Amino acid sequence: MRQRFSNGDYPRDYEDARKRFLAACSVNDIVTDRIVHPLAGPNGETLSTDVAWLGSATARHLVIVISGTHGPEGLMGSACQTRIASALAAKGLVDAAVLLVHLINPWGTAWRRRQTENNVDLNRNFRQFENSLPENPNYDALRAAIHEPDYALAGEAIDAFRAERGARAFASALFQGQYVDAAGIGYGGDQPTWSNRTLRAILDEYARHSESVVIIDLHSGIGPYGHATLLHMGAMPEARAARLRSLLGPGVIMFDDDSPHMPYPLSGDLCRGAAQQLKARSVIPLLAEFGTYEEEVLLALQVEDCRLQEFGGVAEDVRRRLQDFFYPDDDDWKDLVCLRSLQIVRRMLYMRQRELGVDVG
Ligand SMILES: [Zn+2]
Repeated sequence: MRQRFSNGDYPRDYEDARKRFLAACSVNDIVTDRIVHPLAGPNGETLSTDVAWLGSATARHLVIVISGTHGPEGLMGSACQTRIASALAAKGLVDAAVLLVHLINPWGTAWRRRQTENNVDLNRNFRQFENSLPENPNYDALRAAIHEPDYALAGEAIDAFRAERGARAFASALFQGQYVDAAGIGYGGDQPTWSNRTLRAILDEYARHSESVVIIDLHSGIGPYGHATLLHMGAMPEARAARLRSLLGPGVIMFDDDSPHMPYPLSGDLCRGAAQQLKARSVIPLLAEFGTYEEEVLLALQVEDCRLQEFGGVAEDVRRRLQDFFYPDDDDWKDLVCLRSLQIVRRMLYMRQRELGVDVG
């Protein structure tokens, strides 16, 4: 039984997260905009992605912070954005602005599913669908087991897959992404989803004049508890990478296609998709992943969640465990994550303002 260390100062669900975020924006005179999702939430509530802009409209430098790419991670991301809005609003941003994209996959946050409304992993959906799509042989080998109606037989087949191919192959099957099984796990879709199109429209509207942009896509679930693993999505010259590490810590990973840090290739991620959309002279796409519990638990939950969608059953228990996995019931964890997010934003503002020759002391 996990210990609980929570006093309720953080968002409980989609509606609470949105309310807190908008309240922080309102108190600090931050302008917001709302983009309504076509589907309702579990309580019939209207769902939306909300956008907040801090700083001058003509700032050359922009930091974009995105939450909720994976639905249940959105409560964590929302808490971070609420903190960022409150902390930065009072400070004068010199030639810089911050764009907060609150819950880009609001359906997933409200329904407590990592996927979008059409079972798509949004972080595999940012790709050209007219080109040939990557294959995932490990997923192909596991596919029948995931869709096996008999629970015991499914479990046996999954165990056999793991015994034969190993834990890495199992993680690759479920996380690498696949483009063949729309009812399966890690499905990247066959066209841009609502969330993908919405983010692109937001970037076109808000980021078209920016000279330099930093994108920070907030995630949780993978890695050491409470620790931020920072991935720069793409290669970067060594001198610049050293500069980035001097500000954000030595652990920043340069994630290019030859990266030794991932056991499988990755495509269609939101960060690089957003970066390609921008016209800016310089873009730094960062994925911040805040660790929670063991990967094994997540893999098992993903299978359970997928089977629940297909065969039905009592969703509450699985959804609650999914939510708890990505957003531990622990205010110390939340404090750490919010503070680190704010620190990352502040340091990227500092770095870019210096590069643009703005006197920031
Ligand atoms: Zn994620």
